[in-house]
Amino acid sequence: KTPLTSIRGYLELLKSSQRDEETRQQFYEIIDIEADRLMHLITDMLELSEIENRPALDRQEAAEGCNLAEVSQEVMAQLQPIAPDPNLRAPAAHRRMRQLLTNLMSNAILYNKPGGAVWVSAGRARDHFFLRVRDNGIGIPEEHQARIFERFYRVYKERSRALGGTGLGLSIVKHIAQLYGGSVQLESRPDEGSVFTVYLPLPLPQTPVA
Ligand code: ADP
Repeated sequence: KTPLTSIRGYLELLKSSQRDEETRQQFYEIIDIEADRLMHLITDMLELSEIENRPALDRQEAAEGCNLAEVSQEVMAQLQPIAPDPNLRAPAAHRRMRQLLTNLMSNAILYNKPGGAVWVSAGRARDHFFLRVRDNGIGIPEEHQARIFERFYRVYKERSRALGGTGLGLSIVKHIAQLYGGSVQLESRPDEGSVFTVYLPLPLPQTPVA
């Protein structure tokens, strides 16, 4: 059921018959939760459509790059402490890196096990920048790995839904990487954990012409 179907269903129930106060409160509560889910879903869909449809805007904003430590500070306040090289710059817009890191880190936390951990690392080689989010959580069975970047694809539907997932997070991550000409790589084993690595190409230094 979509959130809107339940909202309408519970509104119908409230309108159609006499309910005691306690039942009415329960219905309001459900409508409230479902409305939140709907809002989250719409925000994610708008984000995805903006990334897909306005790449020029993003390229413009990416021109000056973004300070990774700053992005991390923001995500950290939202999620969990990480500490990258304070001078490392990603060849991407600040707000896009924030979305990407938020989605990868919240997944690494949500699809984890009690006492589990999340590691974040980043760095650069001659021609590319990379950002890696690793967890030792529940992992992703091989047969699902090719599909989890698809919209609305979820391995554990009930768990994802219970945790407030929309099924769009990884597809946003992939689109952001592609927006900058990069890619996302996944390595995962059920019960051991997952590693998501985002690669972004760096402009090669200009060699002086003699
Ligand atoms: P959701 O909102 O459901 O989290 P995502 O697109 O972010 O949507 O992820 C899609 C699915 O991939 C999730 O429902 C989950 O089954 C699986 N998944 C994503 N990240 C991880 C992870 N770090 N460990 C295990 N499973 C994961």
